[in-house]
Amino acid sequence: MIPVHGSVRVVGEEARRLVWALRLLGVRRVPVSQENPVPVEASLEDMGFYEDIDPSPMRVFRDTLELLYRGWPTPLVMLRSLFSGGVRAWAKLEWYNPYSMSVKDRVGWYMVRRALENGWQGSLVYEATSTNTGMALAAMAAIYGFRARLYIPRVIQRASDTLLRALGAEVVRAGKQLTVELLEDVKRDAARDGALHIDQFSNDANFLVHLRYMAKELELQLRHAGIKPRGIIGGIGTSGHMAAITFYFRNRVGGVKIYTVQPARGEVIPGIRRIETGMKWIHWVKPDRVVEVTRREAIEALLTVARRDGILPGMSSGAVAAAFTRLLDSGELEDGDYVLVFPDNGFKYVEQLNEHLGGHDTV
Ligand code: PLP
Repeated sequence: MIPVHGSVRVVGEEARRLVWALRLLGVRRVPVSQENPVPVEASLEDMGFYEDIDPSPMRVFRDTLELLYRGWPTPLVMLRSLFSGGVRAWAKLEWYNPYSMSVKDRVGWYMVRRALENGWQGSLVYEATSTNTGMALAAMAAIYGFRARLYIPRVIQRASDTLLRALGAEVVRAGKQLTVELLEDVKRDAARDGALHIDQFSNDANFLVHLRYMAKELELQLRHAGIKPRGIIGGIGTSGHMAAITFYFRNRVGGVKIYTVQPARGEVIPGIRRIETGMKWIHWVKPDRVVEVTRREAIEALLTVARRDGILPGMSSGAVAAAFTRLLDSGELEDGDYVLVFPDNGFKYVEQLNEHLGGHDTV
């Protein structure tokens, strides 16, 4: 791995590898020296490192793809419900993405974009999903004119079938609990039908899109607000977003502790799962601490945020809030600012919320 600090001064093979890495991170210009091996020096700003983030201030968009990438950055908001003494919690609201109202729009968009750039011309995409990647891919299918078939595990809320079918996708309900347990079936069916199995679990576009857009925009937002975060907390499913954030902040900012959140043993929290069930990118970076949360804790934490801040986070966001509260209560957090990544909101989880509230919450 090549660390990316303020400026670079390298030559030869090292320079070639650095240019490759910088291109992946989205620089627009790379300085070259005609008198090799005389080194050249340039700042990341000079190289257009941040030019990928080009928001539309008036929020007028020419098509629904622009609505995604020119809608970034997603908001970063301080939460009153989690404020305590000298510790401040900032939530990054990934449900401000247009297709799935989740962090996964970035992934669906980038996986499809890279497939198209690499010459894919097929008409069928198959994917295993717990809903959000599926909605993002269904949107991509509508926009680019292909068909999406989505495999979802039995434990996911029934409303997902309706949402995915409304977006024009075909839905296959499989009898397994975890999305990763469906991969063999999806691979087999895709090979049989000549479909592209786009595979968020191993497709590096998942990690890269978060590195190039989400982590970078979060750094810009924090810098804009004059905040040096002490820690970042987020859930892990494929591990794409937290692995990218960890890699980026460790190399570019430093001094930021990374806390990942997973369900306690035997618990189902849609979107996140335990690290030992197999993930790719998180093993490249290693979080500082893994926090375990029950489903009940996740729901109670999301309700606390909803009832004190007036926004309704989803279940994995609730898990992140619960993990933060636990760390706070156990005295593990030093005073300062913490970022909580909230992957989606609560609108998909009416069934789970209804079950928890017991239908008795009305007067
Ligand atoms: N939370 C929700 C609601 C999700 O849908 C997902 C992924 O599907 C995650 C968290 C985990 O994100 P990642 O796959 O980047 O680890």
